[in-house]
Amino acid sequence: MDNCIFCKIIHKEIPGKVVYEDDVCLAFLDLSQVTYGHTLVIPKKHYDSFLECDEKTLGHVMKVAQKIAKSYEASLGANGFNILTNVHEIAGQSVHHFHVHIIPRYDEQDTIEINFTDNEGKHDLDELLGKIKS
Ligand code: 5GP
Ligand code: ZN
Repeated sequence: MDNCIFCKIIHKEIPGKVVYEDDVCLAFLDLSQVTYGHTLVIPKKHYDSFLECDEKTLGHVMKVAQKIAKSYEASLGANGFNILTNVHEIAGQSVHHFHVHIIPRYDEQDTIEINFTDNEGKHDLDELLGKIKS
């Protein structure tokens, strides 16, 4: 897709530090390196986000993400991972080509903060479930 930075990396119009490639997807080091080894896995076909990606491709991208994460346990000494994808700007998506972040974790002092606020009791879960099921 025109003007998509990740499509440009796929087509080798701009450089990327590629760690894995096959017919369907590409994995390369994220420029920002939130933690050491921070990697992005992307489908070669352009999808704006996780929501648009077709099922088969999505499955493949996640399989590759798992393979890479496992390999980082040995090669980088990672002790854990945050595997995530941001959908739309409100959730922090800045590049509108679906990508899965592999963020290796080494210890609790890693330069990443993922805090789940504990809102227990704030919402009526039965009402919520009703809304979801309707
Ligand atoms: P998002 O914020 O959309 O979830 O993640 C986009 C990621 O792409 C960011 O972590 C950012 O550092 C990375 N990024 C943006 N432009 C480039 C680039 O040209 N090359 C690489 N390797 N990473 C990029
Ligand atoms: Zn793209």
